[in-house]
Amino acid sequence: MKKTLAIVFALILTVCCIASCGSKKDDAADEKEKLYMCTNATFPPYEYYDGEDIVGIDAEIAQKIADKLDMELVIEDMEFNSIISYVNSHDNAFGMAGMTVTPDRQESVDFTTSYAKGIQSVIVAEDSDIKTLDDLSGKKIGVQLTTTGDIYASDEFGSDYVVQYNKATDCVLGLKNGDVDAVIIDNAPAQVFVEENDGLKLLDTDYADEDYAIAVKKGDTELLNKLDKAITELIEDGTVQQIVDKYIPSK
Ligand code: GLN
Repeated sequence: MKKTLAIVFALILTVCCIASCGSKKDDAADEKEKLYMCTNATFPPYEYYDGEDIVGIDAEIAQKIADKLDMELVIEDMEFNSIISYVNSHDNAFGMAGMTVTPDRQESVDFTTSYAKGIQSVIVAEDSDIKTLDDLSGKKIGVQLTTTGDIYASDEFGSDYVVQYNKATDCVLGLKNGDVDAVIIDNAPAQVFVEENDGLKLLDTDYADEDYAIAVKKGDTELLNKLDKAITELIEDGTVQQIVDKYIPSK
């Protein structure tokens, strides 16, 4: 009798053990590995706040990438200027912020295939006497710190005339307050800012064609290849274009 009881007890123990091991495994499967998108959410329509959420072209493409990789997307909002160093010091992190591929940046991060084009534009006050790019010389130009707009403005007009802001939205505020005479920024956010703010207009002069791509830690070929494969598939099956069209309807 004692023996039978012992066997039954042992059996119950074994069943419990198997059951709990099984559920532990399921929990682990539910918990996906995190993938961090580093961005600066002041750059509509690529990344901006809608209430508490960060939405936009980049945010949606990043979600599709995470879905493909079966990872959980976490969006980290930071200054544009911090993205490259963050990416280089964290695993499973990538920079996606309407970020232009430049030779300088290519020295510190690796880029995926380009998924969008950018053009630099100039925003001025509606009644401004600035009509052409040449009229910008000697004027105060607002830019977002370390963006390509910052680099062009400093190179062409001299850094003494350039006012660097941390956020794109602060550049626009600076222009509205009269602290700067013009803002040099990418065309897509420039159009949004002009639509959303009275008294501003775009100069009819586009310059600098740029390619946007995703930045990863220098030398992390495993992450680079995964992201590159995912973004290439999303470009090829038309998903990227669909997302762009949703945010930038063609007129
Ligand atoms: N495309 C520009 C750059 O990469 C601006 C990007 C941004 O402000 N988010 O410098």
